[in-house]
Amino acid sequence: MKVSDMFITTVRAGPAEAEIPSHILLLRAGFIKKLVSGIYGFLPLGNRTLKKIETIVREEMDGAGAQEILMSALQPAELWQESGRWGVYGPEMWRIKDRNQREFCLGPTHEEIFTDIVRQAVSSYRQLPLNLYQIQTKYRDEARPRFGLMRSREFIMKDAYSFDRDEAGLDISYKKMYDAYTRVFTRCGLDFRPVEADSGAIGGNNSHEFTALSEFGESNIVYCSECDFAATDERAEFKDEVQSPEEAMELEKVLTPGTKTIESVCAYLKADIKHSIKAILLQVAEEEGDGLSFVLALIRGDRQLNMTKLINALDVPEYLVTMADEEKMSAVTGCVGGFTGPIGIHDCKVIMDSELKGTVNMVCGANEKDHHYTGVCEGRDFKADKVVDLKLLREGDPCPHCGRPVKTARGIEVGQVFKLGTKYSEPMNCVYRDENQVDHPMVMGCYGIGVTRTMAAVVEQHHDDNGIIWPMSIAPYHVDIVIVKAGDPEQTALAEELEKKLEAAGVEVLLDDRDERPGVKFKDADLIGIPIRITVGKKAAEGIVEYKLRRGGDMEELPAAEAAARAIALVNAERRG
Ligand code: ATP
Ligand code: MG
Repeated sequence: MKVSDMFITTVRAGPAEAEIPSHILLLRAGFIKKLVSGIYGFLPLGNRTLKKIETIVREEMDGAGAQEILMSALQPAELWQESGRWGVYGPEMWRIKDRNQREFCLGPTHEEIFTDIVRQAVSSYRQLPLNLYQIQTKYRDEARPRFGLMRSREFIMKDAYSFDRDEAGLDISYKKMYDAYTRVFTRCGLDFRPVEADSGAIGGNNSHEFTALSEFGESNIVYCSECDFAATDERAEFKDEVQSPEEAMELEKVLTPGTKTIESVCAYLKADIKHSIKAILLQVAEEEGDGLSFVLALIRGDRQLNMTKLINALDVPEYLVTMADEEKMSAVTGCVGGFTGPIGIHDCKVIMDSELKGTVNMVCGANEKDHHYTGVCEGRDFKADKVVDLKLLREGDPCPHCGRPVKTARGIEVGQVFKLGTKYSEPMNCVYRDENQVDHPMVMGCYGIGVTRTMAAVVEQHHDDNGIIWPMSIAPYHVDIVIVKAGDPEQTALAEELEKKLEAAGVEVLLDDRDERPGVKFKDADLIGIPIRITVGKKAAEGIVEYKLRRGGDMEELPAAEAAARAIALVNAERRG
């Protein structure tokens, strides 16, 4: 492909709204183009890389026995009403009506659609197991679309859904997807970790997230370098510390003027922060209507609340839970901002972290301005409605498996695999008939890869100050031939001969024949990030070219034939990833 013919738009300056390298570089190198916030189009180079990622995904999914189909983006509300998700999905779902006022959404995910198609087509155990997938555009009206392809409102996802007879079958399907994902992300050149992930109110060890390590990721992972524990912080279990035995004191209300934080009250009372109870005030909105209910979450003063664990314990849609409006909550429950505690609070659900169970001689707010209680004993002085692990595991906390201090890292969630069980097949009546003519709900799994987000994640991990450094497997072209002086007959002839030779060997070539200063062409070559650059300049008359790898290493002067042979060998060694 001649660059002079190409619809290409590299841009010198970084766009103002782009904050992270992948976003800046993909825009500057002309891979993507923004339409409106969170909605991007793909230009020729971006489209080529996108198709290569899709090919890798397709090869690995097919190899794992999944079959590709393509479902519509538009989905009728009725199917979501059947599964029970129409009401609970929240404002991320893009809802629309047709001319007859029938409700639809632009699919944010496809569990309902796949369950529906399978229940219509499959009736016998003989037709199982089954795994169907698609590579398709998804719509989510994200609260904070940002970072370009990383969190967009329209994006491409590979989503697969497996259907099995039983849990044992699901375990096999799940493992196949887990292994296929490992191959996909390895082939894309990502440094990633599969970690245990949150699986919602269902709980259990039912999900893994594939996280590409990156400082700009929005996932926090915690892991142990001494054992195999690795999980998202949302999911990570916490080993409770047991309070050493002590004699219970009497409950006493004490004056603690101006001590609105846990630290200040503990300092004022000279109490160990491990002997304090932190109260977090939350409100839950009604799905329909303006009503509010209130929640008091209690954890030890030195711990941090894990919102995901709390939402799972409440078993309500995430978007309905927010920090409480203190005035409103106070009017209903009697809480007092900065001095809230469980004793005497009313008309409010109290959820307590498991570590507080059985604790004695604690400090907590007295629901009265400038007052706290001391000598608080759980069970004697207050009781919670629910007791669960609510803690966020942080750097240095004990590993839930081996007890040694954990480490933390940030990453980008590029994929997730999930055991659904009968969450959809039961309400939607997706059943099969067994050998004894008995019907059972199918046991399902779902598996997503953010195809466009993967592209951003690769750039995040593979770039330098000058631009992108594509791994061979997903580079838009393998070789960039730069003609130093456009129109020079010897340079042009040698460059075109090289191009032909490389293309005959299946190597994809970009030929920069533009009438631009060489510096401009080299800058663009670095920005775009083609793995191999061959420069044809002054020594073309002697058949000599310059050979350089974008990933680094010296520039070498070589006879054209040798440069071609090296390029072909390298491309063949690395093109599959
Ligand atoms: P996140 O927590 O980042 O919002 P999610 O848990 O909502 O992700 P899934 O529903 O599991 O994501 O979707 C499968 C995959 O689709 C994710 O692993 C991610 O790679 C990708 N993805 C999800 N939301 C977006 C988005 N807004 N933009 C780009 N890719 C996305
Ligand atoms: Mg999301």
